[in-house]
Amino acid sequence: MDCIFCKLVKGELPADILYQDDEVMAFRDIDPKAPHHFLVIPKRHIATLNDLTPEDAALVGRLQVTAAQLAKEYGFDESGYRVVMNCNQDGGQTVWHIHMHVLAGRTLSWPPG
Ligand code: 5GP
Ligand code: ZN
Repeated sequence: MDCIFCKLVKGELPADILYQDDEVMAFRDIDPKAPHHFLVIPKRHIATLNDLTPEDAALVGRLQVTAAQLAKEYGFDESGYRVVMNCNQDGGQTVWHIHMHVLAGRTLSWPPG
């Protein structure tokens, strides 16, 4: 399978890894859209949010908890941040391995474009 995020998980491509455990990995986005821009992913390949099953609920929860822990660790929990998951073309998804964006360090506009 030719998935760039699976290659990051396997160490076949370099990544600036901030956190990992048996199921989850977090790393800096290669093209940051804010002063802090992290991606939190499941290590297991899941292409889109549409591929989630009820058994994945705890895993997705772990992505969110990891995002909140990173916000504390990097000191933007109080100032604020945004988490977002894009799905398919209209959602702006460009990598087909689900990932949670964590954006912080500036005032983010709402609604997104
Ligand atoms: P999407 O558009 O699918 O929601 O987000 C994909 C994100 O992955 C983009 O923000 C993009 O900059 C990031 N990205 C793409 N390729 C790589 C890579 O090889 N390494 C890292 N760290 N980020 C990547
Ligand atoms: Zn993958």
